[in-house]
Amino acid sequence: MAAEIRLFPCLSDNFGYLIHDPATKATAAVDAPEAAPILKALAREGWTLTDILITHHHGDHVGGVAELKQKYKCRVVAPHDKAGKIANVDLRVAQDDIVKVGGLSARVLETPGHTLDHISYVFAGDKALFAADTLFSIGCGRVFEGDYPMMWESLLKLRALPDDFKLYCGHEYTAANVKFALTVDPDNAALKARAEQVARLRAEGKPTIPTLLGEEKKANVFLRADDPLVAASVRMKGRSAAEVFGELRERKNKS
Ligand SMILES: [Zn+2]
Repeated sequence: MAAEIRLFPCLSDNFGYLIHDPATKATAAVDAPEAAPILKALAREGWTLTDILITHHHGDHVGGVAELKQKYKCRVVAPHDKAGKIANVDLRVAQDDIVKVGGLSARVLETPGHTLDHISYVFAGDKALFAADTLFSIGCGRVFEGDYPMMWESLLKLRALPDDFKLYCGHEYTAANVKFALTVDPDNAALKARAEQVARLRAEGKPTIPTLLGEEKKANVFLRADDPLVAASVRMKGRSAAEVFGELRERKNKS
């Protein structure tokens, strides 16, 4: 049976996610920005939380863990982090580990750069990628703990997934990302189409997520740092993709 996925806003611009296996009734939250909206979503669906899958140690991704774990005695899955920044963890996972949520299964991809511990969860059977703060729609996370080559490698890992996979990211940043992307990639037809779609969704008060990975590969300039057209548009013809990516990220930081 196919997984049921719900998304809802948390904090100021985070997404909360639940992924539910109808066959076993297992339900996982992917990250826990805060407990209240997750509890509300569980109540609305009549689901019981069995697992929390953490992507990285930032407070806006783990803030609700303690309360949810106390209430549901659920299992908390988190990346290996040598610094021990994430509390209440039952299972530590690394690259290519498989995490079961009832009958559903997610493969772990290590996607460091935003933080050194950042992981993404790929539910291949349901064509769903939970990329948190590594890959946003038409954007990517800020590089806080890693460096640009490391983040670029992480984005390449996600870009290698099939086009028909859906991207579920950590924040509703798409409108701001589109605005920036148009400054460096103004002639990209896929980006212009996405810009129109995003404006319409936001005007209707709807989330811009999920989005198809295949569309992101065409419209997201941060996934196209190895495209000579993108290098030329930031006057870095002939430079490495990681360097072009770094330039894009720095321009976005200043935008
Ligand atoms: Zn973060």
